[in-house]
Amino acid sequence: TDFAALGVPRQLVRALSREGIETPFEIQRVTVPDALAGRDVLGRGQTGSGKTLAFGLPVLTRVAAGPRARPNHPRALILVPTRELAMQVNDALMPLGRAVGVFLKTAVGGVPYDRQIDSLRRGVEIIVATPGRLGDLIQRGVCKLDDIEVTVLDEADQMADMGFLPDVTELLAKTPANAQRLLFSATLDGDVDTLVRRFMTDPVTHST
Ligand code: AMP
Repeated sequence: TDFAALGVPRQLVRALSREGIETPFEIQRVTVPDALAGRDVLGRGQTGSGKTLAFGLPVLTRVAAGPRARPNHPRALILVPTRELAMQVNDALMPLGRAVGVFLKTAVGGVPYDRQIDSLRRGVEIIVATPGRLGDLIQRGVCKLDDIEVTVLDEADQMADMGFLPDVTELLAKTPANAQRLLFSATLDGDVDTLVRRFMTDPVTHST
């Protein structure tokens, strides 16, 4: 199987190829077709399994098919527990975004607000955020979640362990109820299950 056979558009397949990525990993093979079909997807997978592309490719595909983001209105949200993970996700998806004309920006704590605010004002399609900073940007009125079409929760169990569940719940509640949701986690029980029940619609579960 290759990425084209999973339904990934040609420009993205070519951009992947330029990075030496030709053959989908298991988690990508099982989740990408469902996510591309618009379904809510629960993916159980460890760090290093290839989760980033498993959610990144469907998000990029969906966003690339639509209009440019309005100022301060990203169209996709990728929520992660840490600033380091946000940077990694951004670095992995940025070149793919460039290939399909989609802008990404990180919104993480510990760095000044001005560049994040400027980018949001110019319009970014995909915001890769930690819950605290995203909440601050929303509070400041510079980031609005009304146009969000797809939300990703990456390492949801770690977000729960770090005490972010109230923040995550509040943020998800600000996204449109009919937005697509993709959730990736090493475990799917306890607090993560609470999020799943509240925010996901008829999700398909894939474990690798
Ligand atoms: P992740 O679990 O998303 O952090 O990915 C772990 C590593 O595997 C990263 O360095 C990716 O660039 C790489 N990777 C992800 N998917 C593939 C693939 N299908 N083929 C080769 N490398 C990949």
